[in-house]
Amino acid sequence: MSGGSWFREELHKHIAMTYEVGEVLHRGRTDFQDLVIYTNPTFGRIMALDGVTQTTEGDEFVYHEMMSHVPLFAHGDAKRVLVIGGGDGGVLREVLKHPVEAAVEVELDKGVVDASIQWLPSISDGAYDDPRTRLIVGDGAKFMAETDEKFDVIIVDSTDPIGPGAVLFSREFYADCKRCMNPGGILVTQNGVPALQADELVSSVGHFRALFPDGNCYLAVVPTYVGGFMAMGWASLDPAKRTVDEATLRRRYEASGIETRYYSPELHRGAFALPNFVRKLVG
Ligand code: SAM
Repeated sequence: MSGGSWFREELHKHIAMTYEVGEVLHRGRTDFQDLVIYTNPTFGRIMALDGVTQTTEGDEFVYHEMMSHVPLFAHGDAKRVLVIGGGDGGVLREVLKHPVEAAVEVELDKGVVDASIQWLPSISDGAYDDPRTRLIVGDGAKFMAETDEKFDVIIVDSTDPIGPGAVLFSREFYADCKRCMNPGGILVTQNGVPALQADELVSSVGHFRALFPDGNCYLAVVPTYVGGFMAMGWASLDPAKRTVDEATLRRRYEASGIETRYYSPELHRGAFALPNFVRKLVG
């Protein structure tokens, strides 16, 4: 792969996505994954793990804002937040804009964190230096099974359910997340593109429904996650958290002073309005 060539992503069966390569900034194998960071004229710097696009400078704000602000504005008073995965630091960055007391990140691969800080500094934007951040390098499923810490919001910013990320889509893992939640706790998950990855969404929401009082999903459009809108899994100990009214969300949003490029209170509410085929998928 070199300047002027094309990066080919083959995450999905029968289709592929290619990106023109401007310059390869970093390429190597970490302890767990093949990692490449390259430039593209449209999306800027792009990180891919094991050949799958993870985040790009051009559209990362969509995913990181929706994975963070939807659960945090719905919760309204989260003090302890856990991020599983998220090695690029984008979710951590957005979480820390809220008045949380602690943001713990459990990331399997330190190589991802180091490469992101070095080659994609705008994404973590100093989040790893925030005194409220605690980075734990390790397997998220193992941490969840062994910890006795409790959290108000748990955000699973994982790779797809292939390779090291697969354990983060299991019922055992979700049951451990539930065990580690404070009352009113919320879990959100990266849950793929329903048009192309329906099975993982059906599986995750099925586990949520079996384990939590409320299980569902919401949607966001991330241009470089090919296949239309993507789903974020939603599970909560308090069903009312999913239906917080727009006026309350707006009051919380305006009081926070947080500026966003994709998230808005109206969009928060709208993100839970599912097309019929997705409603049928999740039941
Ligand atoms: N936004 C991306 C997406 O939607 O696919 C995810 C980005 S983030 C880079 C995904 C992170 O999950 C990676 O840093 C990867 O190392 C981490 N990860 C994968 N499996 C893990 C596990 N079992 N425990 C903790 N982190 C894991």
